Amino acid sequence: MVPDNHMRDFYGFCPECNKLKIDYVWCGTNACKKPHPRVQWSSGNLAIDKFIKKSQRIVKNFDDRFLEWIPSNRLENVTPLQDDKDTGNYLATWLDGPRYFVMRQRGIPSKVILKTLGTSESITDSFLNELAEQYPTILRKDNRTIYGFTIDTKTEEYRLVIHSDYDELQSIYGLCPTCLNPKIDPVWCMARTCLEPHTSDAWTSGSDVLDEFIRSTQNNAVVWEDTFLEWIPYQHLEVSQLLENEYGSTAYGGVWVYGKRDCQYHRHKARERHTRVTLNLISDLGQEVIDELCKTHPCITRKDNTSIFGFTRNPATRECYIVYASDYTLRRNMYGLCSTCKQPKNDPVWCRTEACKMPQPNEQGTNDNPALDKFVTGT
Ligand SMILES: [Zn+2]
Ligand SMILES: [Zn+2]
Ligand SMILES: [Zn+2]
Repeated sequence: MVPDNHMRDFYGFCPECNKLKIDYVWCGTNACKKPHPRVQWSSGNLAIDKFIKKSQRIVKNFDDRFLEWIPSNRLENVTPLQDDKDTGNYLATWLDGPRYFVMRQRGIPSKVILKTLGTSESITDSFLNELAEQYPTILRKDNRTIYGFTIDTKTEEYRLVIHSDYDELQSIYGLCPTCLNPKIDPVWCMARTCLEPHTSDAWTSGSDVLDEFIRSTQNNAVVWEDTFLEWIPYQHLEVSQLLENEYGSTAYGGVWVYGKRDCQYHRHKARERHTRVTLNLISDLGQEVIDELCKTHPCITRKDNTSIFGFTRNPATRECYIVYASDYTLRRNMYGLCSTCKQPKNDPVWCRTEACKMPQPNEQGTNDNPALDKFVTGT
């Protein structure tokens, strides 16, 4: 937890309820409605102080984001980013974490990236104006990704503190044209308040037919909960064991490190890391193959499809795979498809789709004993 001296020195007390504040602007008392940005603190650099305080002055609601001065002792495990040793980028744990926006309390320790900016004399107003061009969300109230500034007390270099996925998300999906935060998938950005889908065409599977098929599902997305297919970069998958070839095509088990979209909670636009998946080889990407996939996998273009995630290609072998939930085939073979959402059921009666309210006892038996089937299905 945040030690009191840190909170006192940097956050101060709320003039309304006299309690220690939980960040530079807010206290933890729900009844205190007014922001109270504190000005008695310094980063040691006048331009940075001005810049951060400007972002805190415009705060009106608890939801509004602002930049923070993050003392170096609030960052732990600072290590150079892999493959990036000379660029001055570091991975670190921010002990306080980004502010929560629903409850009035601090976040939990979070991974962040530190980007070295330079020593104090190089950081001027014009330097920060250029930085704001590079990170266009930095002074916006819906900024979800730039947290603030810190200093390396040994080298006296200032560093920008940003979301740990910022660079990667930006390079794959680009920035949201509305809020300027990086997008989190081909359609959506990470800002909760940003409710317009923005389909990106910055990716290609290498096949026009497949691109068009995937995009047609993305273009159908209206709200965050709507699912769609994705072109999954192969480097986001940890492909491990070759599965037994019992269904007639080569299949691999693996983990989608980046993970499927978390479609349940609009409030937390996020992805579920480390989703277990199966990759099934597709021989050729012509229209017939896609038509066949739509027939054999009837949920594939539906907005409530949470079983089939998309496609990927192994860059070494050029082989293309369909990627679905690791238990898709097993559940399908055991329980069949739900007649409503067309996805494998989860047990003999129910599927996993929340909107499917009707029980669906298996009609065809899944074992070789008709008497047992009769008993189990109650017919
Ligand atoms: Zn208060
Ligand atoms: Zn946005
Ligand atoms: Zn269903």
